[in-house]
Amino acid sequence: MPAEGSRSFWLQLAESISRATSQPFVIENTTSASGGCINSAYVVSGGGKEYFVKTNRADLLDMFEAEGEALSVMSQSRTVRVPRPVNWGKADDTAWLAMEYIKLGGSGSQALLGEQLAAMHRSSADRFGWHRDNTIGSTPQHNRWHDNWIEFFRDQRLAYQLSLARRHGHHGSLQRNGERLLEVIEEFFTAYQPLPSMLHGDLWGGNYSTDESGQPVIYDPAFYYGDREADIAMTELFGGFGQDFHDAYNAAWPLDSGYAVRRTLYNLYHVINHLNLFGGGYAMQAENMINQLLSLRN
Ligand code: ADP
Repeated sequence: MPAEGSRSFWLQLAESISRATSQPFVIENTTSASGGCINSAYVVSGGGKEYFVKTNRADLLDMFEAEGEALSVMSQSRTVRVPRPVNWGKADDTAWLAMEYIKLGGSGSQALLGEQLAAMHRSSADRFGWHRDNTIGSTPQHNRWHDNWIEFFRDQRLAYQLSLARRHGHHGSLQRNGERLLEVIEEFFTAYQPLPSMLHGDLWGGNYSTDESGQPVIYDPAFYYGDREADIAMTELFGGFGQDFHDAYNAAWPLDSGYAVRRTLYNLYHVINHLNLFGGGYAMQAENMINQLLSLRN
C-alpha cells in the first residue's frame, strides 16, 4: 500500500500543517483530486479548513521544495494569484507539498491574466536563473545564475535538453542541426536585450484557471528569472490562451517585433522536453522547428 494510503501518513501530515499554520488541523476528509501529470493530489479538509496536497516518492522532496519556494516568491509579487504554500516534508515513504486549496473553474476574463502576467514579468532579478534548480515536468531544469541570457538559454535550456535526447537515443539530424542552431543562436538577439523577468516557466493551458470570483490563478510553475517572451511563447504552444489575453498583455507591456521568430526558439525547449518525456512524434516537430529557425537566419 502506498504510504499515503496509510493512517500514519495523514496523521503526520496534519500535525505538520498544524505546526506550520499554528492552528490545530485534524483531517476529517481526504478526496483524491485528478488532473495532474506527475504527482498524486488530494484535497484534505477538517474543522472548516481545506488544503491541496501533492504527494510523490520521498526521494522527490526536492521537487516539492522548489515548487513551494516558487509559489511563495510568486505570491509575494502580488500580481497573478497562485496558491500560497503551507509546507512540505516527508512521512513514511512519501514526500508532500501542502498549499492553499483554491476552488477553480469560475468564469473570468483572460484579459485580466494578460495584465497581471505583464505585472509579474516586471518583477525582476539582477541576473538570469534562480538560486536553485527545479524541474520541468519531471525533467531536471538547471537555473545557475547567469549575466548573459543567450548563454543561459543556450547552455542550461536547449543544450541540456539536446544532451538528454542524445542519451535517449535521438541521434542524427536532430543533433547535427541542433548543434548548428546552438552555434548561431546569438543571431536571434542582434536587436534585442532581454530582461530577467519573474517567469512561471511552464505556462500551458493546464496550469491556468480562474477562482470562484473570476480571478486568474496559475500553478505548477517551473520558476526562474528569464526573458518574458519564453512565458508568452509557451501560451501559444498548446493553445488555451485567447486573443484577449495577448491583447491585454501587449497593451500592458508590448512585445518586441522579433518575438515572432524567437517564439519558435523558446518553444523548442518545451518540445524537446516533451520528446524526452514522451518520445514519439515530438522528434519530428523539434526537427521542423530547428530547420525553420536555421532557414530564417538567411
Ligand atoms: P502536477 O504537478 O501533478 O502536474 P498540478 O499542480 O498541475 O499537478 O495540479 C493538478 C491539478 O489540480 C491542476 O490542473 C488543477 O486543476 C488542480 N490544482 C492545482 N493546484 C490547486 C490548488 N491549490 N487548489 C485547487 N486545485 C488545484
